[in-house]
Amino acid sequence: MRLSRYFLPVLKESPRDATIASHQLMLRAGMIKQSSAGIYSWLPLGFKVLRRIEQIVHEEQAKAGHIAIQMPTIQSADLWRESGRYDAYGDELLRITDRHKNDLLFTPTAEEMVTDIFRAHVSSYKQLPLTLYQIQWKFRDERRPRFGVMRGREFYMKDGYNFDLTKEDALHAYNRHLVSYLRTYERMGLQAIPMRADSGPIGGDDTHEFLVLADTGESEVFYDSAVTDLTFGDREIDYDSVEQCQGVLEEFTSKYARTDETHDEAKFNEVPEERRRTARGIEVGQIFYFGTKYSEAMGATVQGPDGKAVPVHMGSHGIGVSRLVGAIIEASHDDKGIIWPEGVTPFHAGIVNLKQGDAEADAACQSLYDALTEAGLEPLYDDRDERAGAKFGTMDLIGLPWRITVGPRGLKNGVVELTSRKTGESEELAPDAAVARLV
Ligand code: ATP
Ligand code: MG
Ligand code: MG
Ligand code: MG
Repeated sequence: MRLSRYFLPVLKESPRDATIASHQLMLRAGMIKQSSAGIYSWLPLGFKVLRRIEQIVHEEQAKAGHIAIQMPTIQSADLWRESGRYDAYGDELLRITDRHKNDLLFTPTAEEMVTDIFRAHVSSYKQLPLTLYQIQWKFRDERRPRFGVMRGREFYMKDGYNFDLTKEDALHAYNRHLVSYLRTYERMGLQAIPMRADSGPIGGDDTHEFLVLADTGESEVFYDSAVTDLTFGDREIDYDSVEQCQGVLEEFTSKYARTDETHDEAKFNEVPEERRRTARGIEVGQIFYFGTKYSEAMGATVQGPDGKAVPVHMGSHGIGVSRLVGAIIEASHDDKGIIWPEGVTPFHAGIVNLKQGDAEADAACQSLYDALTEAGLEPLYDDRDERAGAKFGTMDLIGLPWRITVGPRGLKNGVVELTSRKTGESEELAPDAAVARLV
């Protein structure tokens, strides 16, 4: 993409109502535009990041054997009356009436809808296990929408639902989700720590939240610092193996790590004092096992091996796809701007032409652009007629991992400059070598 043809409405000043770094930077970098409280348009740069995060979520869900569907955002209230949540959900539920006076709602989550799909089409245990998920817009009429996309009213969420014959099978599904979530967050350059949590309005027995440590997080968390040494890395996992998935769960959840809702001071005090940490965290996901709560209320049964109809065991599992954009920035920025992890960056590298209109510089930039594109990377070429300082400022603000600076002086010596956004280190090297470094 050439910057002169792109739509990147950067702001010079930080809007006054944005109080945390990610919100300020997303506005300044022209990623989003607020439309009303907690409701945003995603502008090209923000939309690219959102799509990259979404893609990682899809890829990791596919590896775990989970199947993508898409359910409607507007749902019938009658379905929610069956589970009792139409009234129980409270003021966060946006209730709508159509012209025929039918009660509808905008989905804040989709346990009822997916259970309705399940009961219409699945009747035998032989069709299990089954996990269906979607990535879809949700609406919750939050009391205090704030921090930009981190606590929106409209937000983009991955929600997955497992259906299993037995509690043991459903707990295996729970563990599969835990493993796939660890991998998902790591691919985004994030450490998200599974912490024992409270189940809230969805209701359930087993639940973990995934928290990214950040001073601006809304949750208070208590943990053994040893949990921050754990990484999933690139190890292989057989998602069908109960032992392997259970092993990962034990490895990542046996150390003390809880949110304030379930914090237990006595248990926390058993952690060696020098490893006890109190901090703040951003909830970027949650997994639940809730058994037969919805399947019993809504008649989602299957015929078991003995021919008897039994309600299925279920769980639901969410990732805050749009919140992650903010969370990643909270975890990765400096005073100049965003620092995108390679896994989610909107463009792989920026090309800065120091002398737009100089035939040699223009040609060198174009051939770098072509070489990177041919190698399957997406560069952003700043071909505007602007001062070098302004171009560097824009690149630093939007946070691409690499910048290639091209100018007549370097080209005389056959070199361009390759700069890492993260370390700030620069190196002069031949254009070919710069390309080779990035692919
Ligand atoms: P929170 O405690 O922050 O209100 P939640 O526990 O109500 O979140 P879940 O029902 O667990 O949310 O939804 C799954 C994920 O969706 C959350 O872990 C979070 O990452 C994301 N999410 C929830 N509410 C919002 C929101 N208002 N704006 C953006 N993302 C959200
Ligand atoms: Mg909430
Ligand atoms: Mg929560
Ligand atoms: Mg939650």
